[in-house]
Amino acid sequence: MQGTHGDKMPSQANQLPALAWRTVFGPDSIAFGTSVWWDSGMKILRKLIRRVRKLNRRMFRALRYMGWRYYCPLCRGRFRKFSGWDGGKDFRGNPNLKLCPWCISNPWHRLFWVALERMWETGKICDSGRLLHVAPERSLGARLNERFTVTTMDISGSKVAVRTDLTKLPFADGTFSALVCCHVLEHIPQDRIAMEEMFRVLRPGGWAYVPVPYQEGPTDEDLSVTDPLERLARFRQEDHVRLYGFCDYLARLSEAGFEPSVMPRAEIVTDEETEKMGLTDQVLFLIKRPPETTAT
Ligand SMILES: [Zn+2]
Repeated sequence: MQGTHGDKMPSQANQLPALAWRTVFGPDSIAFGTSVWWDSGMKILRKLIRRVRKLNRRMFRALRYMGWRYYCPLCRGRFRKFSGWDGGKDFRGNPNLKLCPWCISNPWHRLFWVALERMWETGKICDSGRLLHVAPERSLGARLNERFTVTTMDISGSKVAVRTDLTKLPFADGTFSALVCCHVLEHIPQDRIAMEEMFRVLRPGGWAYVPVPYQEGPTDEDLSVTDPLERLARFRQEDHVRLYGFCDYLARLSEAGFEPSVMPRAEIVTDEETEKMGLTDQVLFLIKRPPETTAT
């Protein structure tokens, strides 16, 4: 017994500073009143630490890629090169995807933004009003907020204004002047219903940007395929339910009522700008809800 008692003494002595700390600052202490205060204080501290770490990572990445050769039209940053995807849930294994080291924009975000700015200059599409941003990207969101009253939505996530399914939008007809929905429809089994919903909430004359991955030839779609590896092989990503065929995608948009327009990259930017902004030879899917015509 004596031996046991003797063994305990040093460990209790070691616990004294921790006990003292807990007595003064712990959840039951006078300093913090109740555990509720303690919990919320720790939550704020953890959030702050996460934000500082994130900012540090971004700053480190921006310093690593600092230079003048390349330009990102979204964050207006200049870099010596674009970065590849460095881990995370999307675009895995694609080191050739040119991401902005600062705002993480990818080529289709940058091409879209350049096209928008040029169309706004000529007054081809509206540049104000309410905009619905589906599965919002930070890089685009920051710039869209400068011109539009933006409502963000997604099926999950805490950083969106509305959590809902794209096939059941809780908005009145014609609520929005514009809609941005990048690489979402290929995840949705009932994509035709989602397209009809997007059409419904857009006002007549409104526009939408809805890029998806596509291939030449027919759409490859099989909702019975649920194996992630088979989906990856057939549809390019584990959670995709189809790979659109180019013409079929446009046909589906037309069936929903949209006027789809396809702008090749070369009609928007020069080869020199393509190189400078890290763009690829893609097309821009910009669709419009036709203006209402009066019956004659
Ligand atoms: Zn950027």
